[in-house]
Amino acid sequence: MKTADFLIIGGGIAGVSAAARLAPHGRTLLLEAESAFGYHSSGRSATFYHFGIGKSVVRGMTAFSRTHFETPTAAGVELSRPSAALFIATPGMVDGLDELEAEMARYSNGLERLDATGVKAIVPILNTSGDGVVAGVIDRTARRLDSEALQQDYRATLKKAGGEAIPDARVVAVAREGDAWTVTTATGDSYAAPILINAAGAWCDEIARLAGVAPLGLQPLRRTIIVFDAPAELDVRDWPFTKTAVDDFYMLPESGRLLACPVDEVPSDPGDAQPEEYDIALAASKVEEYTSVPIRRISHSWAGLRTFTHDRVPVAGFAPDASGFFWLAGQGGYGLQTAPAMSAITEALIAGTAWPGMLTEWGVTREAMSPERLKPRG
Ligand SMILES: Cc1cc2nc3c(=O)[nH]c(=O)nc-3n(C[C@H](O)[C@H](O)[C@H](O)COP(=O)(O)OP(=O)(O)OC[C@H]3O[C@@H](n4cnc5c(N)ncnc54)[C@H](O)[C@@H]3O)c2cc1C
Repeated sequence: MKTADFLIIGGGIAGVSAAARLAPHGRTLLLEAESAFGYHSSGRSATFYHFGIGKSVVRGMTAFSRTHFETPTAAGVELSRPSAALFIATPGMVDGLDELEAEMARYSNGLERLDATGVKAIVPILNTSGDGVVAGVIDRTARRLDSEALQQDYRATLKKAGGEAIPDARVVAVAREGDAWTVTTATGDSYAAPILINAAGAWCDEIARLAGVAPLGLQPLRRTIIVFDAPAELDVRDWPFTKTAVDDFYMLPESGRLLACPVDEVPSDPGDAQPEEYDIALAASKVEEYTSVPIRRISHSWAGLRTFTHDRVPVAGFAPDASGFFWLAGQGGYGLQTAPAMSAITEALIAGTAWPGMLTEWGVTREAMSPERLKPRG
């Protein structure tokens, strides 16, 4: 049996970022079920950083996280690059755009209001005729994240501090024995530590059940992305992430092509999410609704799970009903852009470092993050 001070279940962005922050405070072991880290949600995101998503606590965590993304790694690797986020409105969405602009103005000093002509000057394929796009707000402080670089950097930090990230380690049993949590993997290996961090993404409630801890009622929601060719005569590489002011559609450039998403949220069980024909067709129809580009060929598509708490605010804190069991869950559709904040919160709550003052300023408090706010469900 291997022993540690901190045992983390889940090698997605939540688990690796927490591992990197905890490793300087004690021996840290990270257990990942798959042979590749970031195989599930963390490897399937749109990798964007923006303020057009989530409640104010989420926006506060996003604002806090900016410095991490803007700072290259010790090896000089960039973790993100500047980009823009354009929020668009059809006539029926203008109130929603006004609300979003007012909310985002608390976090960004790079907002500019645009009319249909201004929007079209930036993304010329947008449909601005008839009931098409009539207004927009561009945020020039958004960023494109490099999820692979983030994952690698967090794992390198963990390793440098003497920790270990262990792939092919699917936890199948969890027990509290004396002062320690003992976990057993499908290959029969055992690990023990006084503190167990549950960062298993869509599987967090399953891990809680294995441990005899009350689940939080987390809900994984499937989301689909399609990739298609941009019109040959247009260079789309510097186009912004473009999203409707109310959740209906988003699109962004990727290696000269375009990604599009119908902002679908299909309740799902934890698992290896695959795109469904209906959602692929829906994504294509949204592209044709909001742009002048007919979809002739979808080069590929994928789906991933976004896992939410009831109030859509992520959770970080010790379970009220089990000593040493720490929840790091419910990152929803913002787990990449909030990972530096979530991992700093985890460090503060577990290792006793100071709660970052900037988080408090943004309204991100212990209470707002606590699992105690969520009524446990069976
Ligand atoms: C289509 C899509 C677009 C998105 N776009 C963005 C975006 O633009 N910006 C953004 O910030 N976020 C985005 N997200 C959300 C983001 O991807 C997630 O919030 C984030 O990846 C969640 O990270 P995680 O570590 O909690 O989960 P995961 O990455 O799923 O990691 C959990 C890990 O736990 C492991 N695990 C589960 N059970 C066990 C077990 N028994 N033993 C060991 N390991 C186990 C799993 O194998 C998995 O690797 C998007 C998500 C999707 C699906």
